[in-house]
Amino acid sequence: MPLSEFEIIRQIFQQQKVDRNDVLLGIGDDAAVTKVPEGHELALAMDTLIGGVHFSENMKPADIGYRSLAVNLSDLAAMGAEPAWVTLALTIPESNESWLRAFASGLMSLAAQYNLQLIGGDMTRGALSITVQVHGFLPTKQILVRSGAHPGDSIYITGTLGDAAAGLASWQQTDKSFAWLKQRFTRPVPRIEAGFALRGIATSVIDVSDGLIADLGHILESSNVGAKLKMANLPLSLAICEKFDLEQAREMALSGGDDYELCFTAPSNKQEQISKLVKVCQFVEIGVIEAEPGLRCLLPDGAQYDSVGSGFQHF
Ligand code: ADP
Ligand code: MG
Repeated sequence: MPLSEFEIIRQIFQQQKVDRNDVLLGIGDDAAVTKVPEGHELALAMDTLIGGVHFSENMKPADIGYRSLAVNLSDLAAMGAEPAWVTLALTIPESNESWLRAFASGLMSLAAQYNLQLIGGDMTRGALSITVQVHGFLPTKQILVRSGAHPGDSIYITGTLGDAAAGLASWQQTDKSFAWLKQRFTRPVPRIEAGFALRGIATSVIDVSDGLIADLGHILESSNVGAKLKMANLPLSLAICEKFDLEQAREMALSGGDDYELCFTAPSNKQEQISKLVKVCQFVEIGVIEAEPGLRCLLPDGAQYDSVGSGFQHF
């Protein structure tokens, strides 16, 4: 017998380790009721993942659960927010208990890492679609935005770029050495701690979901500036360099997307504080903000590099 809607909620989604005392009412009533701590603002982010669009439906359900929360946490990271609560709107074609349990375990394990409580949601029948909303706290006046980059600021990126796109491109490969690249797509690590560390230091932050060119482009547009990118500094993983030629790796790094690293800017007088970020995660300087609008990608010999892609857009 397939589980009914209410059994799914009670037996699967109500079973979680996290029990926060700022949740006055969680799953089970008509609405959740929560408390934002004094001196903080509430940050909200939402993302929908559609089967066949954002992930292949034969991806492991635990990975789908993990990833649907991770991409949301990445948005909170880019604001410097501390995750607190999550809501989940789930549309599934059928009540498949083992799929649901695996999905929930992937989502809940990541939630538990950040003491994030699932406080409510919705369930409907239809083509697989997952909408997650995360709620987090920001100390008042410490909000990291896209719009504060100034000419002269350095541009930085955490981690390495292009791995998720490389993993997707090699999805059918069974060779073990592609596993790490694929995992960069299925299990992105939200840079929450890096977001905390950038509070009061970065002039702008964005998470790279649609590719560096597209997402850095958002910073440039919001901040009314341009930038020069040093192609030689693009952080490429050993795995991508081993499996793809430099040209392909650079293209995936510039326009691949799905990496969920943080791209941020900071002025030169913050360099000492910035260098302490290495305690939290690896990062490199990849360019500089300029007054002249537009993005210029420069090769080591000074020649301009023209990327073929410009990031993913649904419309
Ligand atoms: P209503 O009919 O009042 O909208 P529902 O029957 O949809 O309420 O949901 C009952 C309770 O279960 C609510 O507290 C709701 O937030 C929660 N809930 C429903 N679906 C989910 C889900 N997928 N994950 C977590 N909580 C859920
Ligand atoms: Mg109701």
